[in-house]
Amino acid sequence: MDNSSQIIEASHILQSGGVVAFPTETVYGLGANVFNTEALKHIFHIKKRPVDNPLIVHIASLDMLPALVTHISPYNQKLIDHFWPGPLGIVFPKSNLIPDIVTAHLDTVVIRFPSNRIAQELINTCGFPIAAPSVNPSGKPSSTHHDHVKDYFGDHVFVIEGDASSIGIESTVITTLDNPRILRQGAVTQAELEQVLGIPLDNTSETLHLPQSPGMKYPHYAPNAPIHLVAIQDDILDIITTYTKQGYTVGALVSSEIYHHLPDSVIGFDLGSRDNYQTLSARLYNGLHFFDSSPVTLIIAESFQPIGMGVALMDRLSRAASNTPI
Ligand code: AMP
Ligand code: MG
Repeated sequence: MDNSSQIIEASHILQSGGVVAFPTETVYGLGANVFNTEALKHIFHIKKRPVDNPLIVHIASLDMLPALVTHISPYNQKLIDHFWPGPLGIVFPKSNLIPDIVTAHLDTVVIRFPSNRIAQELINTCGFPIAAPSVNPSGKPSSTHHDHVKDYFGDHVFVIEGDASSIGIESTVITTLDNPRILRQGAVTQAELEQVLGIPLDNTSETLHLPQSPGMKYPHYAPNAPIHLVAIQDDILDIITTYTKQGYTVGALVSSEIYHHLPDSVIGFDLGSRDNYQTLSARLYNGLHFFDSSPVTLIIAESFQPIGMGVALMDRLSRAASNTPI
């Protein structure tokens, strides 16, 4: 589909201080001009986002970077050279041009250069970087399709109707400013980052238990029905049968291997083969959105091996399940 007229319309909205939703390869973003404080306030208002949860700044050319940061360290330069454009947000010391509302008054800023063509065209048409969090009411699953944006915000938010997000979970966020570590898990894995940086990242238990990144302390990705995440060694079909007998209308968020064995009374969502982490991740939020428009009263979710991209997948699944009362 040719999105050029929607990109132009969106750029006019952004230039006149509005917000728009646009596709990226990770999830859809809700963007505003990074230099326009009033426009940025709308993002927080629309999402009901806590003001201490900072936004990621999106650029579409390396020429946009020097105005936003005070320094590019050799480690950050390696990350830029290797991973941009792509699903990696990098922490930099921020310049004075970035309003405090973007970074929640931190002296650092996370910057990302998305690979999605529409996101790049939008930013380049505007001529300014776009600050954007995911498009969802705070705490709810991110949007990976323009239909999700419409389900959440109807006509209140203009959305560029690009393809479904190919990665489907939010970017990896890394800092190298103090002890180099991952602040948020994503499609770029720890092993890939360590290989490029040539050093081990800090994931000692002390650092893992600190709130890794402002914003990650908030509840995240929760669909309407509670989620029960089944431990990898437990028999998920047994557990589904038990809850069905207790009177729950059960939704099953599972791999194809399990999906094909579900009892008829269960509403299933097929995440794809258990061995294909790309597909599992790309379908995860679709599954959560699907259950939000179904009558399920409990979602039983399968666990996956936390290997490679499985680390980010299990991070999102366990956060989505963290408010579950059962
Ligand atoms: P969202 O785009 O909704 O996934 O939110 C962006 C996330 O990026 C925030 O919730 C933080 O976890 C992270 N982030 C943004 N800015 C910073 C920063 N300066 N330092 C550390 N993490 C950040
Ligand atoms: Mg978000």
